Amino acid sequence: VTDWQGKHVTVAGLGVSGIPAAKVLHGLGAVVTVVNDGDDERSRTQAAELESQGITVRLGDGATLPEGTELIVTTPGWKPDKPIFAAAAAAGVEVWGDVELAWRLRGPDAAPWLAVTGTNGKTTTVRMLASILEAAGLKTAAVGNIGVSLLDAVLGDETYDVLAVELSSYQLHWSPSLRAHSAVVLNLAPDHLDWHGSMEAYAADKGRIYEGNQVACVYNVADKATEDLVREADVEEGCRAIGFTLGSPRPSELGVVDGILVDRAFVDDRQKQAQELAEVADVNPPAPHNVANALAAAALARAFGVAPAAVRDGLRNFRPDAHRIEHVADVAGVAYVDDSKATNPHAAQASLAAYESIVWIAGGLAKGASFDELVGASAKRLRGAVLIGKERHLVREALARHAPEVPVVDLDRTDTGAMSAAVQEATRLAAPGDTVLMAPACASMDMFVNYNERGDAFADAVHQLAAQHGGND
Ligand code: ADP
Repeated sequence: VTDWQGKHVTVAGLGVSGIPAAKVLHGLGAVVTVVNDGDDERSRTQAAELESQGITVRLGDGATLPEGTELIVTTPGWKPDKPIFAAAAAAGVEVWGDVELAWRLRGPDAAPWLAVTGTNGKTTTVRMLASILEAAGLKTAAVGNIGVSLLDAVLGDETYDVLAVELSSYQLHWSPSLRAHSAVVLNLAPDHLDWHGSMEAYAADKGRIYEGNQVACVYNVADKATEDLVREADVEEGCRAIGFTLGSPRPSELGVVDGILVDRAFVDDRQKQAQELAEVADVNPPAPHNVANALAAAALARAFGVAPAAVRDGLRNFRPDAHRIEHVADVAGVAYVDDSKATNPHAAQASLAAYESIVWIAGGLAKGASFDELVGASAKRLRGAVLIGKERHLVREALARHAPEVPVVDLDRTDTGAMSAAVQEATRLAAPGDTVLMAPACASMDMFVNYNERGDAFADAVHQLAAQHGGND
């Protein structure tokens, strides 16, 4: 679409992506109607602001397709089985997400996109990638499902050499024409299945990120499903499949040899067998799953032509975001670690694998996931478990099946004080040298606004505990 004048566009959903999309489209001359399920005070305030600019808003009716709609731009979180999309399909109306809109509106000299998706590690990898690109002297930003919206990045005054783009499975579902320079699917494990409907549908949406790639499709050698997605993708001629592995790399892979991150993909094979990039110790923190994230980021940067020294400097400069395996304090010989961002079993399994003797705080909203594999793989490392949240019984049942000898405290609470009680119970179970690890394997919204608030509640409780122990912090 180049001529938006008078085009009837329906924006599905207010909120962080709907409001900017509506404003941008209105500014381009489209006739915009926003439809929204909710009709609460907040949406009324937002609606009033949009209406004052000449945008029509229908509150309390997100199901019906407005008459004359030629295109829907949807909030990525809207489930594909909603009636409005069935109506759109029947009427032959295209549906775009916010990412697709940004992709279509980008200018002719727009920066190429290096795109990252996966069940876990997206934000970390995108930030590592941006840090590496910056170390190479490139003008870049970490954007997408990460805070800075793609619309802002694409339409704002700043110009970039390249963008490090985090994409969720929802955003990919609604991005039919997006084509990245290079992309990675970090890993694939069940998550958000209630939204996608099945593991197959979830994987297919993740695989969209490889479609049309120009230079490299990066996959996880240890996760065959990611390699399968590369094989199924329709890419541009000359685009290469590049693997990353925590083991020794084969040709066309990045991997680890004797504590060194090495590249056997982007090397001139007449001159060199492998190019050293950085040391494992340059990765912050050097836990195995995080080294994997670093290799994925390095692969995308190398695909873009970044030199080895910039990979090393970028990794050294990188600082992890809060609530991702964050060491809060040591109290009486016990380490307290906040991995509130472990919102699904696959993520929690990665952080449990990084410690030896653990008292595990878990529970919350399960999103249809199973805990059997996680508990089975981690049972030997568990000194005890403290369960909180609405669907904690699912974790309890998995513990009973695969770790029957591990003591479990089942806190029958979902109030805000529950986290502090959980920290106290975990402290009772812990011995010096142990780690109390809050990696809930569940979403937080049954008890908290989001994972940030959950992590803050944990940190507050730990600091209180430390104060009681005479500031042994
Ligand atoms: P995302 O943006 O995909 O949610 P984050 O980088 O925020 O990913 O990390 C979320 C959590 O996932 C971390 O706190 C950690 O528990 C786990 N994690 C990070 N990287 C990986 C990985 N490569 N494999 C498995 N789990 C991971």
